[in-house]
Amino acid sequence: MSAPLTSVAAHRQSCLDLVRPLPPLDLALRDALGCVLAEDVVSPRPLPAFDNSAMDGYAVRVRDVETATEENPVGLPVVGDIAAGRADTLRLVGGTTARIMTGAPVPQGTEAVVPVEWTDRGVSHVVVRRAPVPGQHIRLAGEDAPAGTLVLEAGTRLEPRHIGVLAALGRARVRVRPRPRVVVVSTGTEVVEPGVTLARGQLHDANGYLLTAAVEDVGALGYRVGVVADDARELAAVLDDQLVRADVVITSGGVSEGAYDTVKEVLSAPGVHAVRFDRVAVQPGMPQGLGTLGEQGVPVFTLPGNPVSSFVSFEVFVRPALRRMLGDEGPDPQRPRVRAVAGTGWTSPEGKEQYVRAAWTRDAAGRFVVEPVSGHGSHLVTALARATCLAVVPVGVSEVAPGDEVECVLLGPLPPEAALDVPGARA
Ligand code: AMP
Ligand code: MG
Repeated sequence: MSAPLTSVAAHRQSCLDLVRPLPPLDLALRDALGCVLAEDVVSPRPLPAFDNSAMDGYAVRVRDVETATEENPVGLPVVGDIAAGRADTLRLVGGTTARIMTGAPVPQGTEAVVPVEWTDRGVSHVVVRRAPVPGQHIRLAGEDAPAGTLVLEAGTRLEPRHIGVLAALGRARVRVRPRPRVVVVSTGTEVVEPGVTLARGQLHDANGYLLTAAVEDVGALGYRVGVVADDARELAAVLDDQLVRADVVITSGGVSEGAYDTVKEVLSAPGVHAVRFDRVAVQPGMPQGLGTLGEQGVPVFTLPGNPVSSFVSFEVFVRPALRRMLGDEGPDPQRPRVRAVAGTGWTSPEGKEQYVRAAWTRDAAGRFVVEPVSGHGSHLVTALARATCLAVVPVGVSEVAPGDEVECVLLGPLPPEAALDVPGARA
């Protein structure tokens, strides 16, 4: 009898234990999108830094124009012209005005800015047809954030809005967890590059592209290595070469029980690599390997060769580990889970946690409804492409009947219309 299977939870924990969040690094702002902030960001000065005009208009003292109406406009001499970027300190003399542009510093003594739309747009003399209230159209220094404000907290995953505020605070660099560099190696003598005409017995490398894209989708850096044939010496050489630039290595193929399962052969040989091969209670994706490569101890995940198995293994085991390296632990905003009602039934191997490629919809009552997209075959890539979620059937369940509730991992963020008012949705 073969050894009992490792549970999904235990294998996932082993994958998490294999990696650490990468040490923080100062990155140029342009490179920081998607990275997790490793510092609290405090405003070094007031934002805005100086009182400035919110409109193109005229800087005034309120009392000088307080009687202005359409019928009884008020005229004022225009004694200056203040463009944005003006650096000298100006003072507004009572009974006069200065033309001022949006973003230009307001002269001392300014109580309001009259928008050009309320005037005759005069250059040396202006007619004002409406009275502003005190402070109108003046943006005060520090009204966005006084100096010393905590603007972003460590742990924030940087989105474009965050990059914008960091730039506004004057930050050229920012301390973040860097993106792990993930080397993706496909193995198989039968596997050839897309673009190459297939000879009999060959197929195109789906996994290398799928996994590299999945790596980048998580926010890590994916380096796809060309396909390596089922040759132990060649595979060992490629892995050795790649270690210098890898924080993680992912391989696909060559880990089952057949002859020519080269990944298993090379990585379980005694030597510098420390990789163990387990049978995990998951369908698809039972044969899984994990460990470290070389003296550097680079974490490696060896995934099965069938593309669907590779994908599911990545989702269930590798994705959480990469998020950990990115410093992004906790619920995955890209992978919300919902409870859905099975629209049709299917069977599941009782001893395994099953991940079924499925598509979700909403019924008239707003409930999520889930249906498998095709048969169970792990080579069925077109069905995989149609899936919008993975329905998870726990160990101990051998059949899902129509109407049963199943937990589903959505393969993308919850669309806004679905997020509205959905009972049972937890992002
Ligand atoms: P293996 O795990 O190497 O025995 O491969 C299992 C199945 O997946 C075989 O049918 C392989 O041809 C197929 N396969 C392996 N690698 C890839 C790949 N990179 N792209 C598409 N199919 C693959
Ligand atoms: Mg193979």
